Amino acid sequence: MRLIVTGASGRMGRELIRTVVETDGAVLVGAIERDGAAEIGADAGELAGIGHLGVPVTDDALPVFARADGVIDFTVPVATVAFAELAAQARIAHIVGTTGLSEDDDAKLAAAARHAAVVRSGNMSLGVNLLAALAKKVAAALDPDFDIEIVEMHHRNKVDAPSGTALMLGEAAAEGREVALDQHAVWTRHGQTGARKRGDIGFQALRGGTVVGEHTVIFAGPHERIELSHRAEDRGIFSRGAIKAVLWARGRKPGLYSMADVLGLSD
Ligand code: NAP
Repeated sequence: MRLIVTGASGRMGRELIRTVVETDGAVLVGAIERDGAAEIGADAGELAGIGHLGVPVTDDALPVFARADGVIDFTVPVATVAFAELAAQARIAHIVGTTGLSEDDDAKLAAAARHAAVVRSGNMSLGVNLLAALAKKVAAALDPDFDIEIVEMHHRNKVDAPSGTALMLGEAAAEGREVALDQHAVWTRHGQTGARKRGDIGFQALRGGTVVGEHTVIFAGPHERIELSHRAEDRGIFSRGAIKAVLWARGRKPGLYSMADVLGLSD
């Protein structure tokens, strides 16, 4: 499968280049960066630290999309929306790892998914998708006497909060409880907040150091507490998930899919 990596010089971009190259049946045909980025013209393999690949980083996406079967995109929302349009025109699979998309961005992604298969997940790892499935089950089994809090920690350079994964876990817990997350979410607390409301789903985002990603879903009930945690130790778990997704999406009918679909965890 001929693949493009966008945001080629980013933390995930470099990891994705390495993973594509070591995956049987996948070949890197394009590496894209933003207009005028310092890395334009550099060799994608050299950028990723794996030697010369003969794939120069470019900011001219259109011709690259025309010769690919799929694009793996961990960039920024404004770029992801533009790539979604190009992928839809080219009818190629689009794997979206980018987080922090607005409602308007979501609508544009859904429109693109009418023409091509789009797999989107705030976390592409097997472990976190299993965690989400477990969080949904536990939330369904417990009544709102159990307070749900989601705590996440990421490296100091992360620009959005809460993390896409924390949102995904919140959505899973809300689904388990059969409520809408936006009506129960409490994003931060400060000052005289008053007592916690029954049924709230709280979020706390910690930032610091080089932490790849840690998430805990806490179910705090009367006199007992259940905690489900995941710790990412290496970005390879996301890039391997993204490759699995793009191989799965090849030839699939247009639509917006999740990692749970890819991993067979949807019910
Ligand atoms: P990063 O290191 O900042 O990488 C983002 C890259 O995208 C940068 O190289 C940036 O270039 C580039 N970019 C910006 N605008 C672009 C454009 N118009 N065209 C092409 N490239 C463009 O960030 P990261 O840590 O790799 O994370 C990227 C995204 O993936 C974030 O949203 C993060 O939350 C998400 N993420 C998701 C998962 C998951 O499993 N779903 C896992 C990890 C991270 P400049 O630096 O030159 O602007």
